[in-house]
Amino acid sequence: MILQVKEIKKTFSYSEGKQSIDVLKGVNLEVNEGDTVAILGQSGSGKSTLLSILAGCLDTPTSGSILLQNQSMETMGEKELARFRAQHIGIVFQQFHLMSHLTARENVSLPLELTYQSQADEKATQALQQVGLGHRLHHFPWQLSGGESQRVAIARALVVQPALMLADEPTGNLDQETGDQVANLLFDLVSAKQMTLLLVTHDHQLAQRCQKRYTLQDGTLHDMA
Ligand code: ADP
Ligand code: MG
Repeated sequence: MILQVKEIKKTFSYSEGKQSIDVLKGVNLEVNEGDTVAILGQSGSGKSTLLSILAGCLDTPTSGSILLQNQSMETMGEKELARFRAQHIGIVFQQFHLMSHLTARENVSLPLELTYQSQADEKATQALQQVGLGHRLHHFPWQLSGGESQRVAIARALVVQPALMLADEPTGNLDQETGDQVANLLFDLVSAKQMTLLLVTHDHQLAQRCQKRYTLQDGTLHDMA
């Protein structure tokens, strides 16, 4: 098993703690190596919150535990967690989240530099070639289309050869045709590299492409079988 999520709860407090909402009320999930898993749910159901928590850095749960490759994420220190995450998890977001002052290749080599890997430029070039962007190495994000930007983001996610790929509405900002192309690319790469994919989306068609599907509703996951 690559990922084991036990009783994850998340409460957001606001109005100086006078009000709160329980977004996640005990999420349990087990993902085997090589699985492709979709989590569906309406807008506001907590999908991005859950993915951010699983990413191990963007957000922390109020309670519960996460084991990634049998390692407990909550017992790690901040630095150790950052390195562990950079080595094992690739993340793709709806809004691409590229660094605007860096070229495509510099964006892709960033996670390699964070983990002190050699030949960052060569590896980044190769990853960009794999997503069909060998001719866009030195372009800045504002010189790229939405589909190209998301392909750069996919290259950045896969360049560290992560065991687990997380994706949050990866086609949500793209038109239908571009979105289909990006989804094809993502699923082809996941399959070719035998990665595990955990995708959150409100798009049933995209979710259909995964082997397993769950819905996030009222703060817990329901198996769609
Ligand atoms: P989804 O991705 O399924 O659309 P989100 O995980 O983004 O849903 O949000 C789930 C709920 O949690 C929403 O009601 C949202 O307003 C709330 N929420 C998300 N992030 C925060 C935050 N940082 N502070 C307070 N409430 C938040
Ligand atoms: Mg969301």
